[in-house]
Amino acid sequence: MTDSPAIMVKDLVKQYGDLSALKGLNFQVYPGEVFGYLGPNGAGKTTTIRILAGLSHPTSGYCTVLGQSTTGNPGLYNHLGVVFEESNLYERLSGVENLSFFARLHGIGPARVHALLQAYGLEKAGKRAVGTYSKGMKRRLLICRALLHDPEVLIMDEPTSGLDPTSAGVIHAAIDNYRKQGKTIFLSTHDMSEADTLCDRVAFINQGEIAALDRPGTLKRRHGQPVVIIEMRTDLSRLEMLKEAIPTAQVSSKDDLTMVRLPLQQPDLGIQLDQLRGYGEILTIHSQEASLGQVFREVTGTGLH
Ligand code: ATP
Repeated sequence: MTDSPAIMVKDLVKQYGDLSALKGLNFQVYPGEVFGYLGPNGAGKTTTIRILAGLSHPTSGYCTVLGQSTTGNPGLYNHLGVVFEESNLYERLSGVENLSFFARLHGIGPARVHALLQAYGLEKAGKRAVGTYSKGMKRRLLICRALLHDPEVLIMDEPTSGLDPTSAGVIHAAIDNYRKQGKTIFLSTHDMSEADTLCDRVAFINQGEIAALDRPGTLKRRHGQPVVIIEMRTDLSRLEMLKEAIPTAQVSSKDDLTMVRLPLQQPDLGIQLDQLRGYGEILTIHSQEASLGQVFREVTGTGLH
């Protein structure tokens, strides 16, 4: 990584009337990074992305992409590709026609259009109207369109939302491949395991403020806690007694099974496991690393994932 950021966000504020959607954000994304942007619904992710993509003006503060302001700067798009969650493709045109339209605007020849369609498994479908495409195919076509001019920086707004694991996997591979070329990716996502696997660093935004920003591993160590999960069979009355006897236990029930979570790193773990045996039949015990989902819950104070 060099010291010169690919994306710089400085004191960024966005007001919608009385509502402060962004309350003075500051962060930088470095060349070659996959930077995850995570947060609950309404946190301000799309607002940030719209400003980064030059589609909305900040109330105050500024953003730069490769040193250029994102406000009132058409030259921005020479180095920037954007993939929005909502498809803004021409449904009646074919895949080839959709890409060719943008290729002509950038002075790019048909060879690049066909190479991208082939790389994303859309060569055959490229001749069909986009209205007949599945969600996954549309998302791949949007990525092709964003990559047409081989931008240095790619911004993706929830690129895998609503996709099945196979289609999401194709997009994960594309992100990985793009990173290997030394490019920079700003990735907004609700998928914690996607962020954990793909991102070099992640920022959690909550109510328009950055609540935490670091490498996933560092955040998990700082905010998360590895747990032991015990699956057991017990009855309701004993369940209540169990909760009273072991206050650190997180207990949940489904059908006739009870899951008990205990913090892994504590001196009383052995005693608590012995205690549990008195409250029912233990079926399985396994340990689980801290997850980015735990970090999400802790830093945003929400109960998602
Ligand atoms: P989601 O995960 O649901 O897409 P988000 O993190 O992208 O959410 P934003 O869409 O950026 O959140 O919205 C941030 C806040 O700004 C929300 O309270 C939203 O209602 C508000 N907001 C967004 N756009 C506008 C607008 N054009 N006018 C008024 N309020 C807006």
